[in-house]
Amino acid sequence: MKIICIGRNYVAHAQELKNEIPREPVFFMKPDSALLRNNEPFYIPEWTREVHHEIELVLRINRLGKNIEERFAHRYYDEIGLGIDFTARDVQHELIAKGLPWEKAKAFDRAAVIGNRFIQKPDFPDQNNIQFRLDLNGKTVQDGNSGLMIFSFDQIISHVSQYITLKIGDLIYTGTPAGVGPVAGGDLLEGYLGEEKLLDFVVK
Ligand code: ZN
Repeated sequence: MKIICIGRNYVAHAQELKNEIPREPVFFMKPDSALLRNNEPFYIPEWTREVHHEIELVLRINRLGKNIEERFAHRYYDEIGLGIDFTARDVQHELIAKGLPWEKAKAFDRAAVIGNRFIQKPDFPDQNNIQFRLDLNGKTVQDGNSGLMIFSFDQIISHVSQYITLKIGDLIYTGTPAGVGPVAGGDLLEGYLGEEKLLDFVVK
């Protein structure tokens, strides 16, 4: 399986990082070795001084597809989950300044947290109004709603599949809302999809 992540998909987040609003989805990838499951602890790597949390809605692909038209894209995922795209922001900024790829800052071990449970698509009354949030030490730091995405789930699937074949089990992290920030040893992170807590783990 592979992990595809969308960058800059919420206006307020693009602005907080002083990025332009993209005209087409920005995507990058993480290897399967980046997955962190079962609410296991996240260990901050020793080579970074600034790891940021990015809470994101995650789609699970359930059909093989390539060159998917937007109007058919909804057939290619049936579950939505919650994840964190951990980002070594200091390293990412160095790479961006040099015009280099972001992998060191994004694809490292345990940088793709994923909740154990996914929610079936029909259980969401309105896919353009999915609330999610991240609490850090009991205080909400990121509060998102799928209605604020620049590119919809269907637009993302259609765009990415023009370049990369999507396979069953692939995960698409759909971008983070505003409020990203650093984590530190001892932090408790809790992620909610609606009112359901799907992530609950500590930073070490
Ligand atoms: Zn992200």
